[in-house]
Amino acid sequence: MPEERKFIFITGGVLSSVGKGIVASSIGLILKKRGFNVTMIKVDPYINVDAGTMNPYMHGEVFVTEDGGETDLDLGHYERFLDISLTKDHNITTGQVYLSVIMKERKGEYLGKCVQIIPHITDEIKNRIRTVGERSGAEVVIVEIGGTVGDIEGLPFLEAIRQMRLEEGFDNTLFIHVALVPILSVTKEQKTKPLQHSVNELRRIGIQPDIIVARCDEPLEEEARRKIALFGNVPVSAVFTSYTVLTVYEVPLILDKQGVGDFICKRLKLKPKARPDWTPWKKFIQSLKQPTHIVNVAMCGKYTKLKDSYISIIEALNHAGAKLETKVNLVWIDAEKLEKQNRESEKLRSKLKQCDGILALPGFGARGAEGKIEAIRIARENDVPFLGICFGMQLAVVEYARHVAGLKKANSTEIDPKTPHPVIDLLPEQLEIREKGGTMRLGAQASVLVKNSLAYTLYGEQVIFERHRHRYEVNPSYWKILQEKGLFFSGWSVDKRRVEFIELPDHYFFLGTQAHPEYKSRPLKPSPVFLGFIKACIFKSKGKSSPFRKQTQRSKAASPVSCEHASALITSIKHSY
Ligand code: GLN
Repeated sequence: MPEERKFIFITGGVLSSVGKGIVASSIGLILKKRGFNVTMIKVDPYINVDAGTMNPYMHGEVFVTEDGGETDLDLGHYERFLDISLTKDHNITTGQVYLSVIMKERKGEYLGKCVQIIPHITDEIKNRIRTVGERSGAEVVIVEIGGTVGDIEGLPFLEAIRQMRLEEGFDNTLFIHVALVPILSVTKEQKTKPLQHSVNELRRIGIQPDIIVARCDEPLEEEARRKIALFGNVPVSAVFTSYTVLTVYEVPLILDKQGVGDFICKRLKLKPKARPDWTPWKKFIQSLKQPTHIVNVAMCGKYTKLKDSYISIIEALNHAGAKLETKVNLVWIDAEKLEKQNRESEKLRSKLKQCDGILALPGFGARGAEGKIEAIRIARENDVPFLGICFGMQLAVVEYARHVAGLKKANSTEIDPKTPHPVIDLLPEQLEIREKGGTMRLGAQASVLVKNSLAYTLYGEQVIFERHRHRYEVNPSYWKILQEKGLFFSGWSVDKRRVEFIELPDHYFFLGTQAHPEYKSRPLKPSPVFLGFIKACIFKSKGKSSPFRKQTQRSKAASPVSCEHASALITSIKHSY
């Protein structure tokens, strides 16, 4: 337990989406590399209680934590960069803060008082930040404040961190401001004025940054750096650049090279416990930047225009690719376009057949679902490596039911509530639920894998944990017919009430999972599912036979371990979060 916990607060200026989350994660990693126990918090000033009810098209992916939190995608960056597992309390929103203050008020906890933003809301914010610090036992807590300085919603949070400087002390708190420095295309000049204004805005509310990180396409020129220091009221040595690099994973390296780690340690009086060893990280970046091979993977979904909607999947593919020194080229397929019968859809169909792998992305609702089913049919019929994640797996079951098991018009009741064959239906415990927020089957769940299945070959373990986020599942009334017709259920929930993995034994590589293995993938520890999928894609692209077909003698008689045996296995696995 640290004597004094250090808090680093990161704010953003000029505009959003300048990579504040990446800078925050990079700083986390830079400190972790110096031997410190670091944890991270994302503050989101919106009124939603969590990200679960937000459209990924507007806000990017919903990142699911081990404990079932539906959180901001920045938590994904934190987990991937620092190789840590966070919980839902690491994402604080205005919604949560007000909800608890209002609930306390109703219980009479503020009896007699007028409940106000200062001190009640700000106290609640500080309390939440400190509680996370205490629970995690971290020596350094990095708190990223979402949005941009100047947003009305962000004010109570900025006020709270201003107070924390006073309460925790100068040596224990550090403010980092990240803001855009645009380059004018005509004169190629680096313009620092917007950044200056955003620092002014911060200072107006009583926060003087200790460090300024300019987000710029190029490294800062000396003159721009000096100007930022002068107007931002910091020494020149406190100005750094997060310039544009080929992969986000390079940002920790470029920032550490500029001396940000040493600056922070000195300023916070932290004595590094280790000399940063970047060798494995550099090796990972090297394989990302100089791959020896390339595969084309079709990404079939409905949010193909905002790539942040699928960021953990994209990263999981990158991690697997890097491990195999292969660049994963993403071929985006807008599922809705596949639903039509026209020239464009014909082109897409032949494009899909030429891909080295097809991935059916997760999702909700009817839009684009038929297109995904079509893509799955193409993968199945043409022996193209296939991976279906959550909704992608469910639709693979629908496709199989319709085109192989002879259950015409089979569907998920999410898409067609009146289908004659509801092969995918609501989980029993979902039937009564009316509220939408936080009510899905969420977070880490155990699956028991059938020995010698493809899934088992990939994981090399019989009991595995992956995070979930769904309401629907394979309908038990159809298990028998689907299995008889050749669909292999290779992973089950421990109570054997749910199908967790499906596969096609005679296919090159055909795997569907109800889980979201992408959330646990790390740069240096790729997810087994993605690693296997990319390996299959590589072999396919080289015209070789499947590396898995022979290994996995998937006999139909194979059955999962008994419930008691599985429970014993689970207790014997140290699974902490
Ligand atoms: N819509 C599906 C369900 O709720 C799948 C969700 C998902 O892909 N995450 O079960």
